Amino acid sequence: MSIAIISPGRNPKVWIDALKKHQPDLDIQVYPDINRPNEVEMALLWQHPPGYLSNFPNLKLISSLGAGVDHILSDPAVPESMPIVRIVDEKLTWSMTNYVVTGVLNFHRQITRYQADQKRKVWDMSNPEIPVKVGVMGVGALGGDVLDKLHYMGFPVFGLGFTEKRGFPYPYFSRDRMGDFLSEINVLICLLPLTPETEGILNLELFKKCNPGTYLINVARGKHLIEEDLIPALDKGYLSGAMLDVYRKEPLPEEHPFWGESRILCTPHIASVTNPEAASPQIIENFRRLKSNLDLLNIVDREKGY
Ligand code: NDP
Repeated sequence: MSIAIISPGRNPKVWIDALKKHQPDLDIQVYPDINRPNEVEMALLWQHPPGYLSNFPNLKLISSLGAGVDHILSDPAVPESMPIVRIVDEKLTWSMTNYVVTGVLNFHRQITRYQADQKRKVWDMSNPEIPVKVGVMGVGALGGDVLDKLHYMGFPVFGLGFTEKRGFPYPYFSRDRMGDFLSEINVLICLLPLTPETEGILNLELFKKCNPGTYLINVARGKHLIEEDLIPALDKGYLSGAMLDVYRKEPLPEEHPFWGESRILCTPHIASVTNPEAASPQIIENFRRLKSNLDLLNIVDREKGY
């Protein structure tokens, strides 16, 4: 019984070391050198080649090597009945929250503006703080922590989710109340999973409904944003700026207009990178639970797609 790591283009050694540290006798096979496919019962995936899983007749469990599972669910070769688990851990959450808080503070304290002023030797003391009301789309493992930390820092926060929720600690809107949600806020953070319903959700129609000058932070998936709509939304003043970590095509192509756009702060999908040390215990625990036929941790709801 073995685990396969299928993560093309990434160094698997850090994962092997971290998994073996927690269970030294673990049998691990690594793509592309998997020569005992019949023995693979659990696959750890990040951007696997579509269709590749059909090589494993005894596969019983798939684990994403990150929080998102869109890269797995988009592969039609993944059987409907196959359980899928994902990574939820404190380190991943901590890094994501720190990234988002940086973006909110950058807007609130206008760091980009002061950097530009410094270059031009401008001493401008006007409007040093922009009042901020933060809306988080997606109030799950990551979005929930972002709300907590920003609330703790004293910012008014608002959440938007898929289902109705009672007793949510902050003003909360289910997805059919998007307009009401947007009317409350001037910082919009996307921490949604990528599903057929959320793909393209950040588009010109939505930006038109935002309070003028809203600041956008997209840390979820590139396909949430209709990229061609962003610069027009900035030009029209619906948005005043954006911080993006994810793009439709990664790496961001050299000719992409976002590179040269001073109103958009781009980072290369690093908001929160899974830490193998932190994530390995839950992977090993799920492997153990699989063997013992116990409930799995962090299981994905296949119907909802996250
Ligand atoms: P969760 O599954 O824990 O949370 C998802 C949230 O989205 C839930 O609150 C859910 O609502 C809500 N939601 C789902 N569909 C809709 C919809 N149609 N409308 C409104 N709300 C919806 O996900 P995580 O917090 O763990 O991760 C979020 C995403 O962050 C990942 O899917 C991934 O794409 C991205 N990510 C990006 C990283 C980076 O480095 N840039 C790193 C890690 C993750 P409900 O609570 O009602 O079910």
